Amino acid sequence: MNRQTGTATPARPAPVVNFLSIDVEDYFQVEGFDQVVREADWERHEPRFHLGLEWLLQVLDSVRIKATFFVLGWLAERHPQEIREIIRKGHEIGVHGYYHRRIDTQTPESFAAELRRALEVLRGLGAAGIRGHRAPSFSITPAAAWAWSILRDGGLSYDASLSVRHFPAGREPWTRPDPGPQRLQLSGGEPFLVFPQAYLPGLARFPFAGGGFFRLYPYALTRWGIRAWNRRGVPVTVYVHPWEFDPDQPRFPAPALRRWKHYVNLETNREKFAQLLQDFSFRPLGSYHEE
Ligand SMILES: [Zn+2]
Repeated sequence: MNRQTGTATPARPAPVVNFLSIDVEDYFQVEGFDQVVREADWERHEPRFHLGLEWLLQVLDSVRIKATFFVLGWLAERHPQEIREIIRKGHEIGVHGYYHRRIDTQTPESFAAELRRALEVLRGLGAAGIRGHRAPSFSITPAAAWAWSILRDGGLSYDASLSVRHFPAGREPWTRPDPGPQRLQLSGGEPFLVFPQAYLPGLARFPFAGGGFFRLYPYALTRWGIRAWNRRGVPVTVYVHPWEFDPDQPRFPAPALRRWKHYVNLETNREKFAQLLQDFSFRPLGSYHEE
């Protein structure tokens, strides 16, 4: 009730809480460098993901935000302490595969085996109740849509690998004309939740709010995009990687475009991301229940 006029104050809609995800992998494991760093040679490279991870955990503590960490099984097996620290701080653990292999280059059998192996490692470190998955490079493409049933049959309840490049909004399997969480009706079972890659309002083919797009675009554009979706009641899923907060990482002699995508604006990313955490509210993906 408004005391001065005696009229009822209209109820304000609850502020939209966005989703924050971190894909935990190292700088030498990204798809952009797969021609210069072979999977078999990963062991030879200096691990550095902990540098960006420590900074992330600290900045998230300072703003009291919990996030979802999609962890690569290979890394978790070799660096258990770092993963236990994520769990100890109360963040959600999801799975990012065992090796960093695109799903659309695998068979259903090899994908299922890799998923089982990664889940086993993560559960062994104390990650209980793992519910979510993100594919390397958003690689659950139309040719690999079988992966969703395998995830569900493996006991998971959501995926965050739906790319705007392969599935423009408004067409199957997108069920919503926006990048908010959506239900996927898989044959023979419970509905499965999908958190799509976010795209700029009005520009369904233009991803934003994550990875290289977040580093490349001026922060004002990202802020405008998230605000515009939030005003419509739509939460946005943000994704980042620990190596994006490590500007001193070694440089690889990869083709120019791949180098540019990986290294662009690493120097300013900590500041930019800290600002994002000040401007918006976030929560882990697994805390979402259909409202
Ligand atoms: Zn990845």
